[in-house]
Amino acid sequence: MRTKLGVLGYPLGHSLSPVMHNAALRAMGRDEIEYIKVERDYHELQAAIEEIKRDFLGINVTIPYKEKIMPWVQEVTYEARIAGAINTIMIKDDRMIGTNTDGLGFLRSLSENGVQVDGQEILIIGAGGAARGVATALLGAGAIRIDICNRKKNRGNSLMDILLTIGKAKTSWIDYKALMRADISRYHLIINTTPVGMHPGGAEKLPFPYEKLEKHQVLTDLIYRPRLTGFLQEGKDRGLKVVDGLDMLLYQGAGSLAFWLGCEPPIDVMRESLLEALRGE
Ligand code: NAP
Repeated sequence: MRTKLGVLGYPLGHSLSPVMHNAALRAMGRDEIEYIKVERDYHELQAAIEEIKRDFLGINVTIPYKEKIMPWVQEVTYEARIAGAINTIMIKDDRMIGTNTDGLGFLRSLSENGVQVDGQEILIIGAGGAARGVATALLGAGAIRIDICNRKKNRGNSLMDILLTIGKAKTSWIDYKALMRADISRYHLIINTTPVGMHPGGAEKLPFPYEKLEKHQVLTDLIYRPRLTGFLQEGKDRGLKVVDGLDMLLYQGAGSLAFWLGCEPPIDVMRESLLEALRGE
């Protein structure tokens, strides 16, 4: 019998997913299921997938595999297909079915924090798997411009192509090296989707023209450990609204559990487990 859920990625030292999901599973009376870390380097990915297909009910997929996992998956939901990225897989017999709960999780974290998306111009820094889920969800929520800033132009272009194919929002690319000189005045919301500033090495701060920020703008970081990254700290010091990655973690996780088990997860228990794990950090 399949009794495992988990998260596949590398590295996973920072991940709070096991804490959150195991708390939810215990509260739901599903004591037979355990959620574990599957920390595997790229050369171990094939073997990891065979193990997951054999023993797991489902798996979350995180950095750096959200896009790379696509060829192994037999079926994808609409959310995963348009994003071209998967963060949640359900195993059915010998088949892997992928979906993406990052986008809806991110939108819910914005609405819980009173941040409007409809009609807004947005800058996303980073163009990886998480950025794809987030960008396509923002498009669906009515953003009118989504600009992408990242290091590798081909990755930025490919995300911009997706946005232009599925929606009407304007989009343009900003070279990561030119970000310090960029005009950021048009953006209502600026989102860091890179791991710069994440534990360990959390002292690193995203290079960004912080002195140009204005109080009406909102900064969001997908990182949740530490909760207050250097990027968010700069915004907070200047009186801006800042939203960390904890609520996104919570709501994308709730979306994954609902996908795997087909029932409503206990949000309050999940939130409390995360806050407890982060207490004192
Ligand atoms: P990914 O697919 O590996 O993409 C990472 C992106 O960040 C790429 O665009 C990459 O740029 C860029 N990047 C990586 N290192 C960088 C550096 N040193 N300087 C500048 N850019 C850099 O990873 P992901 O799955 O999208 O995850 C990204 C982050 O989001 C991670 O910190 C992850 O923990 C977080 N996340 C949080 C949640 C949540 O629930 N809160 C959910 C999903 C992800 P290139 O394209 O140029 O290589």
